[in-house]
Amino acid sequence: HPRQPLQPNTPQSCLGIMGGGQLGRMFAHAAQSLGYRVAVLEPEAGCPAAQVAEHHVGTGYEDPDGLAALSALSRHVTTEFENVPADSLKALAMRGFVAPAGDCVSIAQDRLVEKHFFTRCGAQTGVYPAPHWGIADQKDVASASETLFPGILKTVRMGYDGKGQVRVRDREELAAAFAAMRGQVCVLEKMLPLAYEVSVLTARGVDGAAEVYPIAENVHRDGILFTTLVPSPHVSPDVAEKAQKAALDIIGELGYVGVLCIEFFVLQDGSLVVNEMAPRPHNSGHYTIDACVTSQFEQQVRTLAQLPLGDVRQHSPAAMLNLLGDVWFEPDSEIAREPAWDKVLALPGANLHLYGKAEARRARKMGHITFVAATLAEAQLALAQACDILG
Ligand code: ADP
Ligand code: MG
Repeated sequence: HPRQPLQPNTPQSCLGIMGGGQLGRMFAHAAQSLGYRVAVLEPEAGCPAAQVAEHHVGTGYEDPDGLAALSALSRHVTTEFENVPADSLKALAMRGFVAPAGDCVSIAQDRLVEKHFFTRCGAQTGVYPAPHWGIADQKDVASASETLFPGILKTVRMGYDGKGQVRVRDREELAAAFAAMRGQVCVLEKMLPLAYEVSVLTARGVDGAAEVYPIAENVHRDGILFTTLVPSPHVSPDVAEKAQKAALDIIGELGYVGVLCIEFFVLQDGSLVVNEMAPRPHNSGHYTIDACVTSQFEQQVRTLAQLPLGDVRQHSPAAMLNLLGDVWFEPDSEIAREPAWDKVLALPGANLHLYGKAEARRARKMGHITFVAATLAEAQLALAQACDILG
């Protein structure tokens, strides 16, 4: 397929996306703002992205008719979720331009393949994944090194937000945890002494030009992202530079086109460990909408349309708070309530983003707020006040 930009504002200027969640919705906002129409393929009616997109193909992700319909609407297709069937991306690539490519997405879909890839990049990046061991059967349970305990057993596929993970203190607990996984292939990772966690957002165009955003520092609660602070309060210039360089090496080595987010651990001794990557915009990059010249979603649009990458400069310190369904309930109770948005919106520097999900459920991502300010401390103060208001 010819490498030529899909200009906005023409009869052909429609961008396609696999998946209809909040990442697809924010992609659509960015695409529309640049003068593109958007087609979403997602089985669920009324999903966050379909609420705002011009076209909705309501089939399963593997439905040949659905994929053909999406291709007919748009010759440029991307994905908003990691577990999109790689074969569907490959089928779409027969009829148009797909970014990221199915091959890159399949690496990110399997923790073991991903770790092998990171290990291979290690010679160049100087950054390696946590010590680990693939667990496919009882033999692997028996042969796992004693040095991997205490560890975390993770399913290699389909895990997210801490789901599909069990902490194991010893081999006996490993055997029990693996049995409970009912035959799913897993990876045992050594539990590392984390000082803090960061992520690095990168983008790369078809021409091979790549950009890297500032380091974001992430705090998780119960395995789900809780807040992101940028600039990172803890990272040293050395570690920041090493992580950003590793991220650029990784995106280049993949020959990746699109937005890629890489999570790292910083250990108590200051060393850097690469954890996992997401082949799409990432929750920890939502701050870019309000605090950077070019948001991660606009960057996804630009890479998909084969336009030049946008400016990744951050113009304001930012503190992002995820809004989970929990804040739609009275504390420690099942009594539903509407959060006091009027009070939250009165806080300085508040940018509220709600995803249009009909039903609030605990632990479900419903929206986020990014506080921007002249200093990170001010943004953090507003975030703390929002937490008080939201209970
Ligand atoms: P997910 O796909 O659910 O985000 P992760 O591998 O990122 O899975 O794990 C979720 C969280 O669990 C991490 O952000 C980190 O806080 C913790 N964690 C994961 N692996 C390790 C490890 N090897 N050592 C210590 N903490 C870990
Ligand atoms: Mg993670």
